[in-house]
Amino acid sequence: MASADKIVEMNKRNIPFSPPDISELEIAEVAEALRSGWITTGPRTKELERRLAEYCHTSKVVCLNSATAAEELNFRICGIGEGDEVIVPAYTYTATASAAIHCGAKVIFVDSQKDNCEMDYDKVAEAITEKTKAVVAVDLGGIICDYDKLYAVVENKKALFRAKEGDSLGARIQQTKGRVLVFADCAHALGASRHGKMAGEIADFTDFSFHAVKNFTTAEGGASTWRDIEGIDNDEIYHQYQLYSLHGQSKDALAKTQIGAWEYDVIGPWYKCNMTDIMAAIGLRQLDRYPGMLERRKEIVAKYDAMCDGLGINHLVHSGENFNSSHHLYLTRIPGISDETRREIIIKLAERGVNTNVHYKPLPMMTAYKEMGWDIKDFPNAYAYYENLITLPLHTKLSDEDVEYVVENFREVVEKYI
Ligand SMILES: *Cc1c(COP(=O)(O)O)cnc(C)c1O
Repeated sequence: MASADKIVEMNKRNIPFSPPDISELEIAEVAEALRSGWITTGPRTKELERRLAEYCHTSKVVCLNSATAAEELNFRICGIGEGDEVIVPAYTYTATASAAIHCGAKVIFVDSQKDNCEMDYDKVAEAITEKTKAVVAVDLGGIICDYDKLYAVVENKKALFRAKEGDSLGARIQQTKGRVLVFADCAHALGASRHGKMAGEIADFTDFSFHAVKNFTTAEGGASTWRDIEGIDNDEIYHQYQLYSLHGQSKDALAKTQIGAWEYDVIGPWYKCNMTDIMAAIGLRQLDRYPGMLERRKEIVAKYDAMCDGLGINHLVHSGENFNSSHHLYLTRIPGISDETRREIIIKLAERGVNTNVHYKPLPMMTAYKEMGWDIKDFPNAYAYYENLITLPLHTKLSDEDVEYVVENFREVVEKYI
């Protein structure tokens, strides 16, 4: 073995990609919830909803069991389904698209901007038809998209919009907005802000993920929130989410504990995707720690930025004059390398204990979407963005020494390819 390899071997660390950061505080709160006798949706879930709404500057939050469920219920609340079209970036995780498909809507993929993971807003405008009901923007890596542009696009296309008829909640939302609805997939973006507005108060409807790999976790979990809609009571919207997430049952388990209140009705054969108080217990204590966790992520990103800027490697920019992301993912793109070389680099990093990832392989490359007729050839910018991309480990379990280790090893491995 060459001496340089020996040194690598001696100092080898194992850097996981994205382990959950759970402290004794979350563990104690979960134990309390378990001892309390109330383990399903109850006081802790309601408290987490109240605190998340305060954090996102919105009137109400609904906690659910995933972001996928949250996005699906957002569509259902807005009356989106069969016969409708929903515009989704080709460059995202499958849940962004599948939630619309679960509702019976048709997904229309749009390519990214050149050298940018954000949707091409001119292409969004071209994709809008009389059937379009929503556009979903994905705040990838926790960086909030250019919603000013997106709102301008849907305003410009107002003449094409055909609101659902009738007086159901979804129809009234569509009629009041009078334009294509703007949805945010904020699975990565809790705590991010842009022009002084928090993720959650920017899009018409937003979903968050609290899955184990995200910044803020309840093991599995998610939430919905929305901007106030003139003439529509937030309590009505909130109640409809409760119905959708709990079998269409007119009373939840907590309400049924009132004296003599055994009777309930079922008003729709709906879904089951509520959050439990055990999950909410994790979330309550995560939320106490979250501002500090975000600060730590920002420190790590500053170190990665210095490394990438020194090497001439492209990376996501997580903060600037008018925005601050949630620093969720650190995407790097090595100029000029092929997919094959990228795969080789990932293996070399893994051999040194640095576990990386790729966010994302564009959806038109996945079997399910290929079978629907989508072809990656029609999304050249998304493919080019993916081809040379490597996501570095970024999380709050990384010590300063771990970060140094990632920086040194990434530099050593990558240097000869640039
Ligand atoms: C994780 C993720 C989701 C899905 O979140 P779940 O809580 O697992 O349903 C959706 N969109 C994006 C962009 C994600 O990264």
